[in-house]
Amino acid sequence: MLPTRCLLFLSCLLLLPGTAGAGDWLREEAAIMGTAVSVELQHADAAQGRALIARVMDEMKRIDALMSTYKPDSELSRVNATAANSPVPVSSELFRLIQKALSYSALTGGAFDITYASAGYLYDYRAGTRPDQASLKAALPAINYRFVRLDEKHGTVSFRRAGVRVDLGGIAKGYAVDRCIAILQQAGVRNALVSAGGDTRVIGRRTDHPWNVGIRDPRKRDGIVSVIPLEDAAISTSGDYERFFEENGVRYHHILDPASGDSARALHSASIIGEHAIDTDALSTSVFVLGVEKGLALINSLPATEAIIIDNQGLLHYSEGLAMVQQ
Ligand code: ADP
Ligand code: MG
Repeated sequence: MLPTRCLLFLSCLLLLPGTAGAGDWLREEAAIMGTAVSVELQHADAAQGRALIARVMDEMKRIDALMSTYKPDSELSRVNATAANSPVPVSSELFRLIQKALSYSALTGGAFDITYASAGYLYDYRAGTRPDQASLKAALPAINYRFVRLDEKHGTVSFRRAGVRVDLGGIAKGYAVDRCIAILQQAGVRNALVSAGGDTRVIGRRTDHPWNVGIRDPRKRDGIVSVIPLEDAAISTSGDYERFFEENGVRYHHILDPASGDSARALHSASIIGEHAIDTDALSTSVFVLGVEKGLALINSLPATEAIIIDNQGLLHYSEGLAMVQQ
């Protein structure tokens, strides 16, 4: 159920303990995919529940090993190393995820573009370094999702020109969250939450009430702007406060406008609510680049999808389905 029919309300994130009989609540956290992964589920058998959580963590690690650009031996790193020279055969899983990413590029007019990495790799947010004008100008022409060629028949990926790099950081965590939820559903779990950084999906309820997922205040550490009650839904937030550095009062962060190769600065955060985390993940990154007007127009055109946007003045904007419940 999407929150379009629920009232948005401010409350704390304290969750009630499990009710007797329905099974115990189990929760674990781990650092995977460069972020905090957390899994919470209700299971009648605690040992089985814990084994399921271990399977979920393993699935996250498997996907990370496949798609991380930080791991030189990942499948995606192999693509980046050689796809400009000759077509690279890839697993059907990676093929389909790249295909999905390209479909979001088409839907967003290129705001979502995995070839952002052609310039994106020149930034190091931890070290606080960025490309100078000349290197950025040299890298920019390689950003264009149309340079990525998928050959369905041969199951290969190739790049139409040199200098192209892809990175699935804007969609892979949402994909992983969906895969993990599918594992839990197949095992008969009815109430659970899986989150990886800013991407969360819930099934069922948290005991006798919906899950409450907080939207962080982009400018106040540990502050919460809003708490969204969710059942059987996904929510993703993209913000400029996760990975960034500042230079002369300008914030350089990890979401790039593919048109400029510079950080997108119209928003502080974009949260998207929908059915699947793969979609909310891609859309939160997309809306972050598109800004308030174009972002809301996109979300309002999509079924069962809502947005909560915080612009660069700190003002909140809601998609149509949520704006109605605000009144
Ligand atoms: P987070 O990774 O913090 O959950 P997002 O889902 O918004 O946040 O993803 C940001 C990541 O998306 C970046 O770290 C980068 O890997 C990738 N990215 C940055 N800009 C773009 C873009 N314009 N299109 C697609 N992916 C992008
Ligand atoms: Mg995203």
